[in-house]
Amino acid sequence: MSRPVRLAISGASGRMGLALLNLVRDDERFELARAVVSASSSRLGKAVYGDVSPIRFADWSGEGDVDVVVDFSGPDGLLAALERCEASGAAFVTGTTGLSPAVEERLAKAAERIAVLRAANFSLGVAVLTRLLREAAAALPGWDLDIVEAHHNRKEDAPSGTALALGHAAAEGRGAALEDLAVYVREGRPGARKAGTIGFAVVRGGDIVGEHQALLMGQGERIELGHRATDRSIFARGALEAAAWIAGRAPGAWTIEDVIATSK
Ligand code: NAD
Repeated sequence: MSRPVRLAISGASGRMGLALLNLVRDDERFELARAVVSASSSRLGKAVYGDVSPIRFADWSGEGDVDVVVDFSGPDGLLAALERCEASGAAFVTGTTGLSPAVEERLAKAAERIAVLRAANFSLGVAVLTRLLREAAAALPGWDLDIVEAHHNRKEDAPSGTALALGHAAAEGRGAALEDLAVYVREGRPGARKAGTIGFAVVRGGDIVGEHQALLMGQGERIELGHRATDRSIFARGALEAAAWIAGRAPGAWTIEDVIATSK
């Protein structure tokens, strides 16, 4: 695109939304067309832009052209933004996690008509961790495998979307579907472990940005693969790369791997 991409941010007053606003104002590839918040949102754009150039938070009503919507809200915010994209033909990038099968289905349907990119995690490090875990799980099929994740105490979904994406990659490495291997550890795991299962354990507390550890446990040895996010701007940066990449793309269900593969 020869002109700046007209960008809308859905969930603009949230933790990720504010991280995106902070980056977008210094990024010449984008023009911020709309910063969408829920009706009940109490935080104001002044927190980000100060008094010099206050950003007006909005809803989806009224006119205004948008090329790409980046969404980090929740299931309702996602659906409202998606509807808008379908009506206008804008591309849709979302990092929102904890979606129901019905919302997942809606996204898949929308991708038949517009360009849709979903990522449970927009960090480059997690993309590489996912690849490494797929390979390790395939090479060590008999080893027990657990994924342990930790996040701040406000996070709503568990296990995290990233933990589940890692689980899918590990199961894929073992030639199986995660649904057939997953064990969710909430109240302890009574009895002996069933061979080949993939366990999930969840930690919630404080202001942890996001930590994921995959443990592959054999007899007398184990491998630990991990990733620690210390600053959520890494996700915002990845989402903006995706937004710049997807502007003007054909309809389809795109992934962060597509962005990485063609941005090298
Ligand atoms: P948050 O609660 O701080 O922000 C969400 C914001 O969305 C809130 O301000 C809320 O008011 C707003 N919102 C809710 N409904 C809305 C609606 N109908 N319209 C507009 N705005 C609405 O949460 P967060 O930490 O910013 O995370 C948001 C989502 O992104 C979560 O699902 C989280 O798991 C996910 N996340 C993904 C990644 C990634 O890399 N993919 C990284 C971090 C967080």
